[in-house]
Amino acid sequence: MTKLASGSLTTRSVQIGVGRDNQTGGISFPIYPSATYRHPGVGQSTGYDYTRSSNPTRDLLEEAFAELEGGARGLAFASGMAALTTLFLHFSSGDHLVVSEDLYGGTYRVLDQVFGKFGLSVSYVDTTDNAAVQAAVTPQTKALLVETPGNPLLGVADLRALSELSQEQGLMLIVDNTFLTPVLQRPLELGADVVIHSATKYMGGHSDLCAGALVTKNAELGERLYFLQNTTGAILPPQDCWLLIRSLKTLPLRMERHCASALQVALWLQQQPQVAAIYYPGLHEHPGYELSRQQAQGFGGMLSFRVNSPQLAEQVLEKLQLISFAESLGGVESLITLPAVQTHGDIPEAERQRLGICNSLLRLSVGLEEPADLIADLEQALG
Ligand SMILES: *Cc1c(COP(=O)(O)O)cnc(C)c1O
Repeated sequence: MTKLASGSLTTRSVQIGVGRDNQTGGISFPIYPSATYRHPGVGQSTGYDYTRSSNPTRDLLEEAFAELEGGARGLAFASGMAALTTLFLHFSSGDHLVVSEDLYGGTYRVLDQVFGKFGLSVSYVDTTDNAAVQAAVTPQTKALLVETPGNPLLGVADLRALSELSQEQGLMLIVDNTFLTPVLQRPLELGADVVIHSATKYMGGHSDLCAGALVTKNAELGERLYFLQNTTGAILPPQDCWLLIRSLKTLPLRMERHCASALQVALWLQQQPQVAAIYYPGLHEHPGYELSRQQAQGFGGMLSFRVNSPQLAEQVLEKLQLISFAESLGGVESLITLPAVQTHGDIPEAERQRLGICNSLLRLSVGLEEPADLIADLEQALG
């Protein structure tokens, strides 16, 4: 990325890679598919030896990740799960993690069914409750992993308070920033040590690639995670790095519109008699509204709502035409899911009931279509 000392995030995003290709002046930075590189002489390197270790297209993307999040080091992975897995490899058998209970089902699955076998233990807590987090910390606890806003219930955790708590207890604070992106929330500036992203979602933004990111606050942890990335190899291929660079250029513009449209849809849903509850941090009634205003620059494009019965939830999914019934989120196209069955299907039934992830709960990723068209589609589906 051209290092602009100042300039808004919008400008810096648009300018990613501009001026970087010195050989041709290309505005779009090229894709380097080469797996390996010729050495100029014995003991010499161009800086590139082998593509798992580093690649010019990936370097640009990784620098952009770091710059957007305000971190020292960015790393690009083949998926959000690959990023999380690489991060969890940093820990050792016997270590304990405190993790948000309102979180992405895949994170729960990899901790429970993969890392559990290697002796990593986890306590799931309500991370919107600082006292509950404090109470879950043991002498073995090494890190706190927070997803905020939560998934699918959009609870808001206090990142400044949790960062203070982590510092006092010597914990690494990890924040999954997939839902808000650095455009709306910059956890490293609020005291987190590492940010993780499923770049498949808003960063990619077009439902056409799978990618993940880690960004560290300091270079030392960045180097350690780079060692794990290079050693275990779940890197993002150069073609996808290029596509993601292109996507990041419009991230600030897209997020602005996602926020505006989501609020409009949330306000409309709130008025509907068929809607029993609505979860969107941008509504004054949401318990995380004030906190969101203090720590984020917007409320995002994700909302969940509970309809009056599981039958009605099914009807909505069947009748929607514009809004696609599909997993994932964060694309320009609106998507709706039934978390209890899809994204959170791996969480045990009793646990889902306790959390309130019932069969009447729908999660909507508000895309960039005209909000009036989305509302019309919801209206006919609820009717
Ligand atoms: C999708 C998602 C992940 C996993 O990312 P993939 O790119 O699907 O591997 C992790 N965290 C959150 C919040 C997600 O939405």
